[in-house]
Amino acid sequence: MLKYNFSAGPCVLPQEVFKKAADAVLDFNDLSILEISHRSKDFVQVMEQAQSLAFEHLGLQDKGYKALFLGGGASMQFLMCAYNLLENKAAYLNTGTWSAKAIKEAKMFGEVIEVASSKDSNYNHIPKSYSVPSDVDYFHFQTNNTIFGTQLQETPSVEVPIVCDMSSDIFSRQRDFDKYDLIYAGAQKNMGPAGATLVVVKEEILGKVSRSIPSMLDYKVHISKDSMFNTPPVFPIYVSMLTMQWLKDNGGISWIEELNNKKAGLIYNEIDRNPLFEGFVTDKADRSKMNATFVLKDEAHKDAFDQLWKDAGINGLNGHRSVGGYRASMYNALSVEAVETLVSVMQELERKG
Ligand code: PMP
Repeated sequence: MLKYNFSAGPCVLPQEVFKKAADAVLDFNDLSILEISHRSKDFVQVMEQAQSLAFEHLGLQDKGYKALFLGGGASMQFLMCAYNLLENKAAYLNTGTWSAKAIKEAKMFGEVIEVASSKDSNYNHIPKSYSVPSDVDYFHFQTNNTIFGTQLQETPSVEVPIVCDMSSDIFSRQRDFDKYDLIYAGAQKNMGPAGATLVVVKEEILGKVSRSIPSMLDYKVHISKDSMFNTPPVFPIYVSMLTMQWLKDNGGISWIEELNNKKAGLIYNEIDRNPLFEGFVTDKADRSKMNATFVLKDEAHKDAFDQLWKDAGINGLNGHRSVGGYRASMYNALSVEAVETLVSVMQELERKG
């Protein structure tokens, strides 16, 4: 039996996508997808389809944005966005390990103003009262903090361009995507295998810094070559395209958002109801619908709980080392049944007490 995979990423993808991807490895128009040229007509179509599906899901068609699928992971975007956009100073919201890493890279290119940080409380909430200076080149934040299980619910209202890491909640819920000037997201959560990173950027914000930018790190270069400046990660892009198509065929972001709300409701209700557990995030409004972090109130139950969820066919529930406890990652392709199984395991632990 296949396991219920609650891993934080790489993670579960739709079975249908796995099957189509496997088929294409063996036969994609009489060749393997792994052996075709990225310049072939067939792959150019895949790239165009992937870009157009990304725009469609985000509602950003014909609004001056370009979509790229780049290598290097979301971590590459930490430096690439600063390289391309940071002339003098930029504002960053520090809500977790990935924010801190983005800040570290940006400091190599200019002044970084950390407008607020929840580091002192181990990132167990999202800072609320802060202001973003109007003279910064951009404001950067993460919508979802994969490790700590917090999620920004509203898009901050600011006067400066917004640069945003949506690696762990892209395509999972509706947002005012047109308020964002640059969105990036590693594929390996809601899109596909690791190796491709989606970058959606408003073209008008580019070309304003005075430094010269190495070609591979220059968004304008990648745009001028339709994301084919060098050999793109063909297979991850193909699988991302399949997942975006799957999302579209089933009803798009509004369909998945309802399911994601249902899954999050199930797990958080149980965390709050079950006397053996408590949530990690202090402000319930900040709870992530993608990654639910929780701990056992009494560690004495740890062995019994670990045995129960493993026996129930659950994989990947251990929390990140900087938080401890458990993390149930519930990306788009995780079934409601998987979350119901986890909830029933938590209830079984309570019964056995
Ligand atoms: N940002 C977020 C929110 C993440 O969750 C991760 C990785 N899980 C990263 C950035 C880094 O991504 P990558 O490993 O693709 O560089």
